[in-house]
Amino acid sequence: MTDTNREWLLAERPTGEPDQDSFELRETEVPDPDPGELLVRVRYLSVDPYMRGRMRDAESYAEPWDVGDALKGGVVGEVVETESDAYDAGDLVTGEGRWADYATLDADDVAPVDPAVADPEAYLGVLGMPGRTAYFGLLDVGEPKPGDTVVVSGAAGAVGSVVGQIAKLNGCRVVGFAGSDEKTDWLTDDLGFDAAINYKTTDDYRAALDEAAPDGVDVYFDNVGGPITDAVFTKLNLDARVAVCGQIAHYNDETVPTGPRKLPQLISVRARVQGLLVGDFATRFGEASERLAGWVASGDLEHRETVVEGLENAPDAFLGLFSGDNIGKQVVRVSAAEQ
Ligand code: NDP
Repeated sequence: MTDTNREWLLAERPTGEPDQDSFELRETEVPDPDPGELLVRVRYLSVDPYMRGRMRDAESYAEPWDVGDALKGGVVGEVVETESDAYDAGDLVTGEGRWADYATLDADDVAPVDPAVADPEAYLGVLGMPGRTAYFGLLDVGEPKPGDTVVVSGAAGAVGSVVGQIAKLNGCRVVGFAGSDEKTDWLTDDLGFDAAINYKTTDDYRAALDEAAPDGVDVYFDNVGGPITDAVFTKLNLDARVAVCGQIAHYNDETVPTGPRKLPQLISVRARVQGLLVGDFATRFGEASERLAGWVASGDLEHRETVVEGLENAPDAFLGLFSGDNIGKQVVRVSAAEQ
């Protein structure tokens, strides 16, 4: 093990879309674990859309980062030093770490990673926070019933790809919006979506929905907001449920966008629109992990990760979320198993 560590800091608060200037790579010493902590060598780190919110000086559900702060996020790492009886050196764990080569994690807050269940990087996607978000957001907020039509935006991403497959397992018709033909083909050919709309090459989303969701929309799982959501709101059925999970189309906006208001559409159909935060379901994470792992093991739930190589490329991986570079979960491989 070397003495040097590298970690990414927030260099400046971005205005609009972040770029490389928002980030700085700093050399530090490898940290010492305190009692109850583990020192891990990071194998994979997760970049997530919500991190854009942490770059803003504004109160939110995730605490803002200050300029100069180390960037934090989900990691999979190998324990190299332990100050806890719960884990040994060599164990693979997942928890909240840093964009760094090495990180200390609180042993009480980590979960074991079992490569026999899935590749370690899947613990940042389908078997991690995004998978749990899909599970609770769809089943508890969306409340799909067999025969319902479920529309998902951001459908080929980490959360959306799991939402659509769980909806299929619940006997629904599933329609996804995604930003390339490669993505829409993946949704229909590999994941079993009934229809998928490439929103970048389609002009009229309402007409596309007339074809893809001819019986209207019973559940809308919204990951993106913007014009896709405007169109879906006009197609909601009586008693429809809208799970507002993310609004990535607006994360780089500096002002709250205004425009034709869609709320009147909700009145006649008595639709329910509900925001969700995965953390609110923390007491039931065990249930979600067990069911998601079961579906992965049985082959009912496919997953894919887009891997960017090298800690030095973590900002690129993050920025790529806003241009749709990822299919499935975007992760960064920081170190290989044999190192
Ligand atoms: P994804 O893996 O889906 O990556 C983001 C995707 O968003 C991109 O691949 C891109 O795909 C799409 N996208 C980017 N910009 C736009 C745009 N302007 N319009 C439409 N689509 C766009 O990310 P996650 O699965 O991790 O997260 C999905 C959403 O869920 C995010 O909004 C995130 O913030 C939210 N989230 C919320 C949680 C909660 O507790 N509420 C927890 C976890 C995630 P494409 O090529 O299709 O454009």
